[in-house]
Amino acid sequence: MYLDRVRAAREVQKKEKLDALLFFGLPVIRYLCGFTGTDGVLLMTESESVFLTDSRYKQQAVEQVSADRIVCYKNKFPGLIEELKEQNLVRVGFDAEKLYVSDFNVLTKIADEQMEWIPLDEPLRALRACKQESELDALRKAAALNKAAFEQVLPRIVPGVTERFIALELEVALKRLGGECNAFDFIVASGKRGALPHGVASGKTLEIGDLVTIDFGTRVDGYYSDETITLALGEIDGKLRQIFDIVLKAHDLALEAVRPGIEICELDAVARNYISKQGYGDYFGHGLGHGVGLEIHEYPAVSPRTDALLEEGMVITIEPGIYLPGIGGVRIEDTVVVTADGCEALTGIPKQLYQIETV
Ligand code: ZN
Ligand code: ZN
Repeated sequence: MYLDRVRAAREVQKKEKLDALLFFGLPVIRYLCGFTGTDGVLLMTESESVFLTDSRYKQQAVEQVSADRIVCYKNKFPGLIEELKEQNLVRVGFDAEKLYVSDFNVLTKIADEQMEWIPLDEPLRALRACKQESELDALRKAAALNKAAFEQVLPRIVPGVTERFIALELEVALKRLGGECNAFDFIVASGKRGALPHGVASGKTLEIGDLVTIDFGTRVDGYYSDETITLALGEIDGKLRQIFDIVLKAHDLALEAVRPGIEICELDAVARNYISKQGYGDYFGHGLGHGVGLEIHEYPAVSPRTDALLEEGMVITIEPGIYLPGIGGVRIEDTVVVTADGCEALTGIPKQLYQIETV
């Protein structure tokens, strides 16, 4: 499994004419060699891969890591530079996305002057875009936990409880079911707070007539789930019902448009144009979705600015929304895998309007 992935990374190395490739990001390190700890560097040359870490992770690295050598350093950057110098590696590419500028400054200060540092972004992020079967298994499991947890918590979503209570109930249910950790701070945004696209659960109590947007996810074997449902607490006003129907239709149209070969910006436009035609274009400010895998937000961004093509095996979210300040909001989100002729939804909570009885 790791051999294929390392081979793909070496293609990038060859194309960029690099002596070495360095990976600082933990998700990509896990992807390329299996390490799940929280500190280390992966160094790839033409002939070998070397995992460098400190003494806290020595034992773990020996057990987990698929690499030709494991090196234990006392100090991260001096240890790394020493390794580069010993092997006479001069032209070095690295995953720029995950290296702090302050760390980069330390590195270049202690490096030999003739060393060249080549920041790489998209080619390295694209390595993980198309998921293998083992990755899809983990993503499916994580998505299934969302559905099971939601079913357990649904009876407790009633007028008078706080948004935070719902977030906590979901967290407990997900962890009891086997989730490793929360994918992010859960969003529970009810009533007027629904107009906040990232309205993290607050102390506000749910009231009859509220739309409640719940965006949550967990992690299984390192892979995340991400799903958003918008519910009605009893009868809602006509305007809210109208924007719900528009968002659901935009979501459905986008799901139908998912297929290999479509430009990602074009997919975004399917939902965006529909919402705009209904007069709410100004109230859908974010991209249609994002890649999901070992990171909750990863390549590719599904946005008007992404001109890459959708490929079979990519896992992305479809999450249109409408947010009306002072009134409320709706977002509906599924995570899907791109298949040969369309897509398969990994998340499984039904998305049609669910109206909670309030007697
Ligand atoms: Zn989400
Ligand atoms: Zn999302």
